Amino acid sequence: MHPLWTEALNTLRSHLSEESYNTWIAPLCFAGVDASGQLTLKVPNRFYADWVNAHYAAIILEVFAAGVPEPAKLHCKWEVDEGLQAQLQAQVERERQTDARDASRSGAAEREMTRPALERKATATAGRASAVSAVAPATTSAQLNPKYRFDTFIVGPSNQLAHAASVAVGASPGRRYNPLFMYGGVGLGKTHLCNAIGHQIRADRPAARIVYVSAEEFTNEFIWALRNHRIDAFRARYRSACDVLLMDDIQFLAGREQTQEEFFHTFNALYHADRQIVVTSDVFPQQIPEMQERLVSRFQSGLVADTQPPELDTRVAILQKKAEQEGIDLDAAVAHYVAQVVKSNVRELEGTLLRLAVKAELLKQPLSLELARATVAPQQSAPMRRGSVDEIQRVVCEHYGLRISDLKSKGRQRSVALPRMVAMYLCRQRLQLSYPEIGDRFGGKDHTTVINAVRKVTRLVNDDVDMNAVLDRLNLSLNRSA
Ligand code: ADP
Ligand code: MG
Repeated sequence: MHPLWTEALNTLRSHLSEESYNTWIAPLCFAGVDASGQLTLKVPNRFYADWVNAHYAAIILEVFAAGVPEPAKLHCKWEVDEGLQAQLQAQVERERQTDARDASRSGAAEREMTRPALERKATATAGRASAVSAVAPATTSAQLNPKYRFDTFIVGPSNQLAHAASVAVGASPGRRYNPLFMYGGVGLGKTHLCNAIGHQIRADRPAARIVYVSAEEFTNEFIWALRNHRIDAFRARYRSACDVLLMDDIQFLAGREQTQEEFFHTFNALYHADRQIVVTSDVFPQQIPEMQERLVSRFQSGLVADTQPPELDTRVAILQKKAEQEGIDLDAAVAHYVAQVVKSNVRELEGTLLRLAVKAELLKQPLSLELARATVAPQQSAPMRRGSVDEIQRVVCEHYGLRISDLKSKGRQRSVALPRMVAMYLCRQRLQLSYPEIGDRFGGKDHTTVINAVRKVTRLVNDDVDMNAVLDRLNLSLNRSA
């Protein structure tokens, strides 16, 4: 371990109550300090980063200042780490299960969760922890994706309304369209528009406190805040310290009673203070399963706009824009060809373009129509042998050098967890099995574990070239195996 980090930990330990130390400092992971004075620290979630940054960063920096050449330039960079996030989730899950068992024994399932009790607890702990002030975490600078701006968004008939509404909201938040609810299938630009709204508001009103969060993160932070008696800080972040709430993928709240309840109050607080709320979902409000009626009616009370799969011309324009952004030399004929073949969503369109560019570069060939034909056509039209769960598990285990029993075990270490997620993803994709069915075949996992696995791999597929290569290989083996 870095000696300064060890020293920082010692200092923090002596400053903080044991509870605060264990809650906030112990899970931090120090990833290094570079020549520019940037200290990289890994955290389980953003809410966490905000809090530690607001309350403890000064202490950490002070320790480091004594040991670096240019102390004036010292600053912290917070990175949300998926491993830490998973650990935290696992811990929360374990505690939840223990709680549920205890509660059902005493027949008081919900009692512990009632609001006044929580608030009492929260105030009590806030008073006790020495270095933790009762104030809200520092203003969040929303972690907006820098690529998702209005000027990189191509408008066509399929997304015209959602785009126009987003522009209007970006220009005058909290006024005309509140809330703005955007819905549509995967990869059609909802997240892009949501971020673009954030960028626009930030450009016009630098002081606006913008919170961009997925419903999944919101849920995790909420559960975590409950567990750690930080509900007051959580509420400050989402209510009093928030001018614009951009909530992505609200469908994640399906069936999550308690988080919906919390979100309902968040929504009301913001709405009544004329703060802008933007919500996205993969389906129309009324179609979100297991969503409280009163939330559905809130969602419909503003403007509801959809994003549809883009038409051919829009697809061509998107490809050209993307190529320009990525510095890819894209011939008009190739763009046209790809746009004709890849129809379903924009993410896939982009993915295909990037794969083509990588391939052309590797082969040291121009990105020609020929290359595009040879690459894209088989990918689209190969009839898929679907295989079986057993086959998928076997092929995945062969690839990663694991035993089938590992996939069915409860082991959470990454070497097992990732292959398990990949295998679940393949079962879903190739066999279209239901989440509970897949869970059953993997040693009786909960369906939410499967849902998270499929989401996670989907995300990796979008972001990670290696993951694509692995999946290509696995799919190929499955297509071949008799
Ligand atoms: P969703 O949130 O609806 O699943 P995203 O907003 O993540 O979809 O979009 C997927 C990808 O496609 C992103 O990289 C996004 O930039 C891009 N994209 C979607 N629609 C458009 C568009 N109209 N113009 C340019 N890029 C787009
Ligand atoms: Mg999205």
